[in-house]
Order: sequence, then C-alpha cells, then structure tokens
Amino acid sequence: MVPLRKLATFLILGMLVFPCLLGRAKVRSTAAQNSVPHAKSLFVQSAVQILEHEFKESGVSYLLFDARTEDLLSSRWEDAARPIPLGSLVKPFTALAYAEANEFQYPKHVCKGEESGCWQVHPHGELDIVSAIAVSCNSYFRALAEKLSGEKLSPTTRRFGLEAPDLGISGPGLMGLGDGWLISPLHMAHAYLELYRRRDQPGVRELLAGMARSAQQGTGAGVGRALRHTDALVKTGTALCTHLHSAPADGFVVALVPADQPEILLMIRVHGVAGAKASVTAGRMLSRMEE
Ligand SMILES: [Zn+2]
Repeated sequence: MVPLRKLATFLILGMLVFPCLLGRAKVRSTAAQNSVPHAKSLFVQSAVQILEHEFKESGVSYLLFDARTEDLLSSRWEDAARPIPLGSLVKPFTALAYAEANEFQYPKHVCKGEESGCWQVHPHGELDIVSAIAVSCNSYFRALAEKLSGEKLSPTTRRFGLEAPDLGISGPGLMGLGDGWLISPLHMAHAYLELYRRRDQPGVRELLAGMARSAQQGTGAGVGRALRHTDALVKTGTALCTHLHSAPADGFVVALVPADQPEILLMIRVHGVAGAKASVTAGRMLSRMEE
C-alpha cells in the first residue's frame, strides 16, 4: 500500500510536471514542423515576423494561415469574422456547385468583353473553366451562374463552411456581384484550404489549375511576378468597400504558397483598389517571406 503522504507528493508533482510536459510537447511539435527538411518551410518561419514588422499600411488587412495545420498564424483584420461581400473569391465555389449539378462538365464560353457583361472592356475570347478562373471573367460566370440559385448552392457552401447566399438571389449575385452574399473572411480562408484538401475530388483540379494560371498570367499575376523561387495558387476579388471611409471598392487576394503542397495561405484586403492591383501588394508581402 502506498503511504498517504507519498501519494499526495506524487499527485502534486504530477500536477506540476504534466502541464510542463504538455507545453514542451507543443513546442517540440511546432519546432518539428518548422524544421521540415526543405527550404520552402522558411515561409512559415519568416512570414509572421515580416508581416508584423514590415506591413503596417493602414489600408491593408491580412490573415495568415499555416496551410497544413489550418492554424491562424497572424492577422491584422478588424472584424474578420463579420460577413462582408468578397467579390469573385466566391467563383470557385459557385463553379463547383455548377459542376456537381452537371456531371462535372464545365461549360465553354466566348467573352465579348463589356458587351457581354465582363469587367474587362476588351473580350477575353473563348474560355474554359481554367482560363475563366485565371482571368476571373464575369461574362463566363454570368453564363455559368444563370441557372443557379442560392438554394442550389447551399450543399456546397455547407461543405466548405461558407455562409449561404440569400435564398432568393440567382445569377450575378452568385458570382460575387453586389451584396446578396456576405461571407466571413475567416470562413473564406478556411474554404480555400478545404478546396486544396479536396484537390483529388471531381471538379476541383480544374479550379486549382485556374488559380495556378491566375498567378502566372491572370488577375493574380502580381503574385506570380513577385515570386522568384516558387509558384502560387491565387484567386482575386473586387467587392463593395465596407470600410468606414468608404471607397468605390476593395481588392481581395487569396494566395496559397507554394502551389505544390502549400505551406501558407495569405488572404489580404486592400482598400480602394481592384483585386488585380491588390495582388501586387500580396506579391510584395510574399516575395519578402521568400527571401
Ligand atoms: Zn471576360
């Protein structure tokens, strides 16, 4: 039989030591993640410091996630949980809802520019889903979303943890125009991590290929041009500004870096610019992390 005094000492020691061990295990697992033996993991190590020390511009909000653990590493985004319009960031999810209803066949479409309702004056020409995501063509997505409704989208939004659009909205409201579909920026960032996690599922590969092309030559080229040693998956968006000192629009960027097995997800909002311009700011941030 263990003497009572000995048992008490044992318990007290256990209470003291156990949390220490837990704390240490946590530190050790973080260190283990950080020392993954390839150079790219430097992103995770330096990203937080660089963002917090070098990017203090008042018009820029950001969320930085570890793409593997989905942990939020750093943020400067007032009210990141509050649903706001996020513009074309919704397009991959709208596309996936379409694909699921259409045997995973994405349409082809000829964009005639402004004449067919695109944001770009000049025609994008003939597009498949990969190029439509890359250039974020509104004409393509008007056609794709034509027969979709808020109700039809809800299984997809549920699966990706996004706020559902108003049930009554259809067409353009479902490709990110207007303010009928408000989404929390935190939820949107997680939805893109989920999209990558489902990369082998039907209909998803094309969307990620579109995001890779966006960084190379589409609306996300500001990121692709800035990165020297790696590639990125990018989606941009332009939406109604929700700042107190309102501008015509805010630009949004989601970037997963590197494109092949992302280590970080950076989501930013730049006050008063379009998404393509915001991608230049995201590129500046990411290129510093890459050094
Ligand atoms: Zn177009």
